[in-house]
Order: sequence, then C-alpha cells, then structure tokens
Amino acid sequence: MANDFEVDLVVVGSGAAGLSAAITAKKRGLDVVVLEKEPVFGGTTALSGGVLWIPLGPHGRKQNPADTREAVRRYMMEETGSYYDDAAVSAFLDNGPRMVEFFERETEVTFIPTLYPDYHPDVAGGVDIGRSILAQPYDIRGLGKDMARLKPPLRTITFIGMMFNSSNADLKHFFRATKSLTSFIYVAKRLANHIKELVLYQRAINVTSGNALAARLAKSALDLGIPILTSTPAQQILLENGRAVGVRAAGVGGEQRITARHGVVLACGGFPHDVKRIAQAYPHLARGGEHLSPTPTSNTGDGVAMAEAVGGVADIRFKDAAAWMPVSKVTFGDGTTGVFPHLLDRYKPGVIGVLKNGQRFTNESNSYHDVGAALIRACEGQAETAMWLVCDKTTLGKYGLGYVKPSPMPIGRFIKNGYLFEGKTLADLARVTGMDAAGLEQTVREYNVGAVKGQDPEFGRGRTSFNRYLADPENQPNPCVAPVQTGPFYAVKVIMGDLGTFDGIQTSVVGDVLKRDGTAIPGLYAVGNDRASIMGGNYPGAGITHGPNMTFGYITAHHIADQAGLK
Ligand SMILES: Cc1cc2nc3c(=O)[nH]c(=O)nc-3n(C[C@H](O)[C@H](O)[C@H](O)COP(=O)(O)OP(=O)(O)OC[C@H]3O[C@@H](n4cnc5c(N)ncnc54)[C@H](O)[C@@H]3O)c2cc1C
Repeated sequence: MANDFEVDLVVVGSGAAGLSAAITAKKRGLDVVVLEKEPVFGGTTALSGGVLWIPLGPHGRKQNPADTREAVRRYMMEETGSYYDDAAVSAFLDNGPRMVEFFERETEVTFIPTLYPDYHPDVAGGVDIGRSILAQPYDIRGLGKDMARLKPPLRTITFIGMMFNSSNADLKHFFRATKSLTSFIYVAKRLANHIKELVLYQRAINVTSGNALAARLAKSALDLGIPILTSTPAQQILLENGRAVGVRAAGVGGEQRITARHGVVLACGGFPHDVKRIAQAYPHLARGGEHLSPTPTSNTGDGVAMAEAVGGVADIRFKDAAAWMPVSKVTFGDGTTGVFPHLLDRYKPGVIGVLKNGQRFTNESNSYHDVGAALIRACEGQAETAMWLVCDKTTLGKYGLGYVKPSPMPIGRFIKNGYLFEGKTLADLARVTGMDAAGLEQTVREYNVGAVKGQDPEFGRGRTSFNRYLADPENQPNPCVAPVQTGPFYAVKVIMGDLGTFDGIQTSVVGDVLKRDGTAIPGLYAVGNDRASIMGGNYPGAGITHGPNMTFGYITAHHIADQAGLK
C-alpha cells in the first residue's frame, strides 16, 4: 500500500515508557518510529505527577548518601512478597541511575530532587528521603508547532488550566495564600503569569509535573528525528515464521503496514479502559460497583490484546491489578464531567473517610493505593464500593475538599450540582448523603476524643513521615489529625479509580514478550504499563511506575540495539 514503510524499530505508544525506549534506541543508531493512537502525544504520562522512583540515582545520592543497595533490595522484598524478582530488581537498580544520567546528559529530559519519603518508610529498607525525583518544569514553546500535539494536563487538577508542581513547595503557598504575605505574592505572581499565557497562547506554557516529562521526552525524540505519528493506532502485530516483523496500523491516510527490521515495542499504557478485562480484574467491578479512571480513554489494552493474539500471556495475577486512586466525579460549568483524583485532601487534619455505615475503615493519610485497597476490602460483599470524605466548615475553608477549593473560593455551585454535600449537623449530613446517622455521629464522637490531642489511636494517622508529608506541618502536635467539630459539616462521595494497571504482559527482564512455555516471541517487546509491573501490585513510593517504566524502556532499547549488532 502507498502508506507502507520500513524502519528498524516500531514503538507503539508515546508515554514515558515508549519514548524512553524510542530515544535510547535512536541514540544507539536504530531508525525508529513512534505510533500514537490519540491525536496528541504523551498518554497518561502527560496527566501524571511526573515523579520517578529511582533509588540510588544521581539526585538521591546527594540527598541521602546513607541509602544502600541492600536497603532498597530489602524494601522491595518486603513490599513485593512472593512477586519479588531478583533479576528484574537488580536490572532496575543497575540501570535506573544510568538511565537518569543518560537522559540528563544527552537529551532535554532533566529532573529535580523531591522531598518525598517512601510510601512505607517504616518498613525495613524504607527511607524518609532520596528515592523520588521529578521532571523539571518546561516551557513548551520549545516544542515549536508540535506544542499543539502535547496532551493537555488533567483538567480537574489544574486551576483555570494552571498546573501545580508535584513538589510540596509550590502547593504550600496556595494553601497559605490568605495567611502569609509571601505566599500571597507567590500566588499572585503565578496567577498573573498564567493569565498572560492564556491570553497569548490559550493554554499553560510553563508546564510542570507529568506534562513537563511528556513534553521534554517528546522534544528530545522529535529533535532526534524520531517521527511521532499521532492518530495512528497499531492494530495487529505482523508475524513471519514466528517473528514480529512489524505492525498493521490505521493511519490518517488509511491502513498501513509498517515493517520493523529489528522489532516492535508495545508501550500502549496497560488496560485501564479495557472494559471486559477490568470487569474481571477489579474486585469492586466484579461485584457490581463503579470505577472511574482519569487515565486516557485510549488506553484500552491494545498492547496486551495484540501480544495475546500472537501467543503472549497477560494473566491477572496480582491481588491489586491496578494502582488504585480514590476519585470523585466532577461536573464542570459547561456540563461536561471529569475525574478528580484525591491526591491531597485525605492527608489533611480534620478530614476523615467513612463508609456508608458512618465508620472509618483505614488511615486516611496512607497512600492513594493503600486507601483504595483498604476501601475495596472494607466494601467486600456490597454492591457499592464508596466512601465519603467528611470535614467541618473550618477544615473546608482551610484546605478545600476534593475539587472544592479552600476559602475564599465560593462553594455554592458545588452544593447545587450535588458534588459537595452539606449538613447543619452530622445527622443532617448523613441524611443527605445516605450514610447511617448514628454510625457517623458515634465515629466522629470517638475520633474527636483523640483528635483534640492530635492522636488517632484507631488507625495511627501521622505515624509515618509519608503520612505527614502532604499534611499540614503547622497543625501540631499531629499534622494529620484535627477534630471534626463545628458545623456545618461537608462531604464528598469518593469511588474507586486507578492511575494505570499493574498486571500486564509477561516478559523477560529485558522485555521480550514471553509465551506460556516461557520462550520469547522474537522481535516483540513490551515496556511500561503494558508489561507486568515489578512491584507485584504494590505501591512502595512516589514514581514507582515512571521510574521502572523509563528504566526498562532504556534496558529494552539497549537489548534490541545489542541484538542488531550495534556498538
Ligand atoms: C493523575 C495521575 C498522576 C500520576 N502520577 C504519577 C507519578 O507522579 N509518578 C508515576 O510513576 N506514575 C504516576 N501516574 C501513573 C503513570 O502516569 C502511568 O503509570 C504511566 O504514565 C504509564 O506510562 P506508559 O508509557 O506505560 O503509558 P502512557 O503514558 O499511558 O502512554 C501510552 C500511550 O499509548 C497510546 N496507545 C494506546 N493504544 C495504542 C495503539 N493501539 N496504538 C498506538 N498508541 C496506542 C495511548 O494513547 C497513550 O498515549 C499517574 C497517573 C495519573 C492518572
């Protein structure tokens, strides 16, 4: 066909994993093309926090010189249990720092350190600092005309399109804007710059977090001459004598066959929108509950399905098949809806999470994945998997709740459209939300006994450095705990969502797609969320998808170049 062409390597998907593989392969001398299903590039990566977990990396070594390989291995063993894979973990630890050094030395991709503790710093081998890095903010005018093809950030976590930095330093000022002159000036400057960008470019130009990561990766790829063919979904792996020799794709100009001399890399971002597969893999869906994913709707599991079609295996093995994220459904002013990931409010003092029976069920200041897993288990045997985040007027004014911003931003619109529930008393709140009134009153009464002293004897909120990291350091003695006291009271309903899937295609350490008998399908590779996570369905720290995803993208590309006989 007229559109057909031939390259060394076809990479399917333009998220961090795919672009890491593409850039590394190109630098090793392979002729690479990236196919992207959406009209924009960046995938979930562009919506993300842009944090990478890279133990013992160049930034972390300066922050925490005492960290050791043995400690990381111990932590990984504790976290992953029976899924611990020493060969894969060793490859990750050897190559994570090299990958960061490579990108920082040879591309536009640069990082800054963060203050994130591991998510379980109290577990053997966990640390309070030094393993999570963040993509450096980026001025997307660097992308030139391709700026228009960068996937915009998640609307629910921007403020009139302005992005926050995943580092705490930026957000701190927004919460303190009405209390501190320094913060007020900081926020006023940020807003003024953002409005200028909106007027000039109709979008945020100085992007942060995952949008910066996606932009920096795309810029590096495009500068190297790697075409990123958007609106070009791959549909089938082409096999010849059992070897992957290319893909069939639907392109702007119609169907095309792209022949790959040295391989095909699947990087389609897992299967968070594969309705059939998640109905089996997610326990709350299997029992009839709701699920809302903020990931791109294009992530329908095409990579997994294409691999299976040629003999690859993608069993559901992990107890938690995805990275859980408690979310709420937001209705915007124009009537459209969005998914709000509850990344911040749960940590704040005075916000508690309760079930329909009005009872708390977990430490709300644990990670999104841990709270999600606890919610799924707490609602076992029920059709609905949901919790309500509850707080009083003082707390709502200080921190906001979900998509509702702190005072002085108005809340009336959210009460009207049913996002925010309000009750003069706890019993009123229970009535409007459908919670058990006696249960809620008893929970708050009992919780407040400890909370006035900064204690949470039931679930130990504030116990770890991670609990406290996103809380309020000014709230003493416990940054995570304050009473729920003065009405009116407020609630937002939270259901289950995800940040991407953990289960995926079975691969070798270097990324070969494996058949059920354990042998590789020559020429076919999987990276990123298409490949089963080395975390075994657990979430040990900030950036545990991007860190391994970019590292294994780098490893797989080197392997392909080695196989091709390149120096
Ligand atoms: C709000 C949010 C915050 C997050 N924060 C972090 C964080 O800070 N750190 C972290 O580690 N993780 C974070 N995550 C998770 C992380 O973003 C994902 O795990 C990661 O982006 C997956 O990367 P990937 O390259 O595998 O896939 P993606 O980035 O999703 O890219 C896959 C691409 O493949 C494309 N595609 C799909 N099918 C086809 C096809 N048939 N042909 C061509 N293209 C196809 C998709 O359109 C998509 O663009 C976050 C997620 C969300 C939603």
